[in-house]
Amino acid sequence: MGQGHPERPERLLAIDEKLLASRLDYLVVRAEAPAATREQLLRVHDAAYVDALERLAPGEGLTWLDPDTALGPGTLPAAYRAAGAGILATDLVIARRAESAFCSVRPPGHHAERTRAMGFCFFNNVAVAAAHALERHGLRRVAIVDFDVHHGNGTEDIFRDDSRVLMVSTFQHPFYPGSGVEGRSERMVNVPLPAGAGSAEFRAAVTEEWLPALERFAPQMLFVSAGFDAHRDDGMAMLCLREPDYAWVTQQVRTVAARHAEGRIVSMLEGGYDLGVLGRCFAAHLEQLAG
Ligand SMILES: [Zn+2]
Repeated sequence: MGQGHPERPERLLAIDEKLLASRLDYLVVRAEAPAATREQLLRVHDAAYVDALERLAPGEGLTWLDPDTALGPGTLPAAYRAAGAGILATDLVIARRAESAFCSVRPPGHHAERTRAMGFCFFNNVAVAAAHALERHGLRRVAIVDFDVHHGNGTEDIFRDDSRVLMVSTFQHPFYPGSGVEGRSERMVNVPLPAGAGSAEFRAAVTEEWLPALERFAPQMLFVSAGFDAHRDDGMAMLCLREPDYAWVTQQVRTVAARHAEGRIVSMLEGGYDLGVLGRCFAAHLEQLAG
């Protein structure tokens, strides 16, 4: 999205480098992300919206859709593959060809609403994947866990009225995008945290709010919107999580998945903008995801 934009290609290189440096690469099998099909995207986005993105995509330069979200020539091809990564991951995990999956993708997705791009997001990757599990694989209940520092307004917008989906999230509030508090329901378990909140507040939210909701809902598969921008040293926001918190929350998700969902987890990268922090948090997450 241009020089100096935090959502930059180096983010995925930082993850790749950490995967090798941490020697976790022997735990994973890599797969190349296919492009999501139009049909797969239209489960969660309006056709007119997808058409508008295609029309606005520039041959060169940038087309700004909001003050911090721009389409460049490479954006849509990457966005189709970011969504397609979740599709393939879901297929592999349900077919038991993978125990779980982490999708190292950009652009991120959880701010993308049914008919609106915003907050660096175009297609809602995690929603595309969850809808695929429901529509293609016939699951009846899936849960989306979102620990990005920003509220996943797009995911809520898409699944607010879908009784097959439970969303549990924590996010800094008040903060961008400002949503999440009014939309709270039995299936939209959004827990706002004040600036400065850290491990204790986060773990209390997970233990007291997320886990009982997940236990009641008994999801058949879990999806994670894995944003690492709530870390103390990520300059994007003001929550104060540390690497052990990401390891811990991943363990909690695994425990729920083992009990209700045959262990099935697909995790997808969302935010996380300090390259060193991103690599370390990713490694803590992946190590637990891989058991
Ligand atoms: Zn974020």
